[in-house]
Formats: sequence, C-alpha cells, structure tokens
Amino acid sequence: MNQEIQLNSHNKQEYPPMHTAEHLLNGTMVKMIGCKRSRNAHIERKKSKCDYPLAQPLTPEQLQEIENAINNVIGQDLPVTFEFIPASEAAKIYDLERLPEDASEMLRIVHIGDYDACPCVGAHVERTSQIGHFRISSSRYQDGVQRIVFRLDAKS
Ligand SMILES: [Zn+2]
Repeated sequence: MNQEIQLNSHNKQEYPPMHTAEHLLNGTMVKMIGCKRSRNAHIERKKSKCDYPLAQPLTPEQLQEIENAINNVIGQDLPVTFEFIPASEAAKIYDLERLPEDASEMLRIVHIGDYDACPCVGAHVERTSQIGHFRISSSRYQDGVQRIVFRLDAKS
C-alpha cells in the first residue's frame, strides 16, 4: 500500500475518549433504533451531544438500554483498530454521506471490536476500557430531532 496516504485533516482536535464514545453511541443508535449515525454532533471534553432525526422521541427505557449497551461494550475492553480501504470499496459498506466532498481516495475505517465500524480520521482511544463510564445526562426531543447529551465519568 502507498505509504503516503493523504487523509483529510480533521476539523478539530477531539478528546479521544469522548470521540470514541461518540462512535459507540452512533453504532448503538443504528443497531437498536435503526436510525443513521448523527450528522450533528458537538463533542467536548466535559459534555457532548449528538442529534438524531427520529419520528418519535426515545422513551426513558430506550435511553437506559442505549446507555447500558454502551457500558457493556466499554466493559468488554474491545480494541480500537484501523484499516485503509479505497473510498469506492467503502461506499459499498458504509454510509459515506457524512464525509466531505473532497474526501481522500483511501479512507481509514475505525473498528471497535466487531461492534462498530465507520470511516473516520479523528483521534480514538486504543481500547474501550479507556473511555470510562458512559452516562446520558439529558435528552430532548424537538421538531423531529432527538438530542442525546452524554458525559464520561471516571470509573469508581
Ligand atoms: Zn472517530
């Protein structure tokens, strides 16, 4: 493989545990709710939020199940690994609508064990146990958009 792969620069330096938690939340939403990965996310060190267009608000039970599923994956201490594949191949497997128009020819796919995979150039933890404890601190449903606000707590 060409060693000089040109990746698109990332828009912002993200806090790796939070950004990796964002991957897990997106993957869990796709699996459990059947929606797409969030295209409107604000990831910060203390508190992050992801928005999902949904026909109905999530119930408190669903929010709890999502939180539990993510903490279960974190507890499995899954490895976060990368592979590089051509964008044309990636388009058959992954939703590339979130990628910028000028995305590079080779895409980096980020795998979290067998739980989740998506193209990303951001900074991630090496293993899910490094994320800490995932907690949905609030949620809001407005105008057909479900917002999930989450925090990471240090493990006690
Ligand atoms: Zn990422």
